[in-house]
Amino acid sequence: MKKWVYACLLTLLVTGCSIEVDKPSTTSLPENELAIEEGDRYLDEITAKKGNFLDIPESFEEEREALEVQIVSYDIDGNDLTSTTVITEDESYVSFAKENHKHKALWKLFSDLIPSNDREMVKEFLIFTDGRDEVLGYVEPLDNSSEWRLAIDFEDTINEKDFYYTLIHEYGHLLTLRDDQVTSTILNDDDEVQEAFIACDYYFAFNGCTKENSYMNSFFQTFWADYYEEWLNNDVEWDEEAQVAFFEEYPDHFSTDYAATHPEEDIAEAWTHFIFSTYPEGSSIADQKTDFFYQFPELVELRKEILARLSSSLKE
Ligand SMILES: [Zn+2]
Repeated sequence: MKKWVYACLLTLLVTGCSIEVDKPSTTSLPENELAIEEGDRYLDEITAKKGNFLDIPESFEEEREALEVQIVSYDIDGNDLTSTTVITEDESYVSFAKENHKHKALWKLFSDLIPSNDREMVKEFLIFTDGRDEVLGYVEPLDNSSEWRLAIDFEDTINEKDFYYTLIHEYGHLLTLRDDQVTSTILNDDDEVQEAFIACDYYFAFNGCTKENSYMNSFFQTFWADYYEEWLNNDVEWDEEAQVAFFEEYPDHFSTDYAATHPEEDIAEAWTHFIFSTYPEGSSIADQKTDFFYQFPELVELRKEILARLSSSLKE
């Protein structure tokens, strides 16, 4: 069975490429006007300090090439790191593996960004590296969807914009795949995956069947139902040429090329655009995907909260 890791290649995080087209807008008037305005005000502060977080000029590169060295992991208890496990025996990293204060500082970048109630699913914090750039961070479930590992490359925190973009993107996966969203199933082989796929009436996520009213299933039914079969048949998830072809076939559908690689990457990228942009003015499908999140008052609140936290974390 293929191993699923929600890795984010820095090199895949290209500039947004939504194109405005003449389509009727399906956007409804957003609720929570005040939370939106406050969120936008924090976004202005952040932009004044660091520029546009969606403006990450990088080129296409599809494969993760460097080997991941896992250095040290911690259990998470609320805001605190508990019980350390040093993993690496690589001499280049053994001394860093003991510098707990540096690990705490890394964890703090995430724990300061996301309110504690909204990150209760993160039960393990792993510090790794694959050298500069490449993968900045990823999330993956531990035994089931209620417990997740957050992994961060300690060498990739230098470019703050890339780093926070990645944290927000990864949080998009946690938000949309956590256990109140997905009926988690442990699947041991391809046959079990196939059976579970057939038995699932909604979008089938890698960790189980999504619930009917989950963010992921709603997003999928709205935006992916028409071309999911094509995406599956063309093996877009794994075939790089098919990814480019799929992205080009639907030029106004995806906020980044990475979004076209998978429905779950699409929602994570749309979530990241929801956080780091104002209410979309255009009516492209990519804009509608950003707009999607405004129908959920709790996410509008969370956007405001995250942007407030980020604004106070960032230095001028
Ligand atoms: Zn991802």
